[in-house]
Amino acid sequence: MDPGGSSGHRDISEIAPELRRTLLAWWEVHGRKDIAIKPWMFTTDGRWPEPNEDLSPYGIWIAEVMLQQTQLRVMGPYWEQWMVVLSTMQHLAAAEERQVLLLWQGLGYYSRARRLHQAARQLAASPLPSSLEAWQAVPGIGRTTAGSILSSALNTPVPILDGNVRRVLARLHACLEPPQRAQASFWQWSEALLDPLRPRDFNQALMDLGALVCTSRSPSCHVCPWQRSCAAYASGEPSHFPVKDASKPIPSQVIGVGVVLNEAGEVLIDQRLNEGLLGGLWEFPGGKQEPGEAIEATIARELREELAIEVQVGEQLIALDHAYSHKKLRFVVHLCRWISGEPKPLASQQVCWVEPSSLIDFPFPAANARIIAVILEKLSH
Ligand code: SF4
Repeated sequence: MDPGGSSGHRDISEIAPELRRTLLAWWEVHGRKDIAIKPWMFTTDGRWPEPNEDLSPYGIWIAEVMLQQTQLRVMGPYWEQWMVVLSTMQHLAAAEERQVLLLWQGLGYYSRARRLHQAARQLAASPLPSSLEAWQAVPGIGRTTAGSILSSALNTPVPILDGNVRRVLARLHACLEPPQRAQASFWQWSEALLDPLRPRDFNQALMDLGALVCTSRSPSCHVCPWQRSCAAYASGEPSHFPVKDASKPIPSQVIGVGVVLNEAGEVLIDQRLNEGLLGGLWEFPGGKQEPGEAIEATIARELREELAIEVQVGEQLIALDHAYSHKKLRFVVHLCRWISGEPKPLASQQVCWVEPSSLIDFPFPAANARIIAVILEKLSH
């Protein structure tokens, strides 16, 4: 909320109690209070917790970090599997990094898994943090994740601001600025609306409203508990909000990839540096095609620059398209024969020759599963 109205938005603190009441009444009937959907939100005996009951923050923390860049319906099975293998902070702290990355395989943004691991090692000897500041000091935890962990686990009255909440608030206020440019106002709005007696339920309800009713493309305003107070609904064009910055075209790139075999029939793989979306994962070496360059020349050049080896580039194994939110990639994968040079990790953490049948023991980006399948198929003939 903008208590002083300085940004031109109305002050809705007077109707906040009514907004809380109608939202929670809607959520009691329609919310995602289902143990099969959000098992980390339930007590050990399978009940939604009462306001005076605490939940273990560990499982909620793991779920919240998975949810940072992955949808609820996708991350559920990953969370279940994780909690079977690494059921406590102590188990996570004692695990090897490769095991942690394998459990994360398919969720993307692997730095999240490495930061969880690192944080568990830091925190394992002490009780889990119980304040917003202490959670925000944990690697990989920002304000909304900290707020979500505390309100979910301990029913602490702290606001959240994830993508769903941002969209609902942008519409409730018909905010004319993109949310990224008006963060302070959005936090104030989330805080002013929060139910001080039932913060856990309220934050869940707000997220559920965004996920189930106030959806991105076609909000179902006719069943929304906030329709009468919603400025975007009143404008007649609710899906025009949140306002976006003018979007830039998504760049596309072609990546030449070499599956290099030595005389012993082993395949060369390298481990990426720890930064970025796929940091720390293993991959087949390669790199970007330069303008006007044949893909075979790209592969030979990249392997020379990144591994200091000479190869003979042979037949194409597969071409794959992969779209990320910020770029589109086309991987063109060729079989290569190693000719000379001891491979050196000039642009990676380490390189190694492995038996093709051992490739599945290494954490690779999800897009590589098809490359591995094609290699195994090809080499079996
Ligand atoms: S009335 Fe429509 S736009 Fe407004 S909060 Fe509800 S679903 Fe979203």
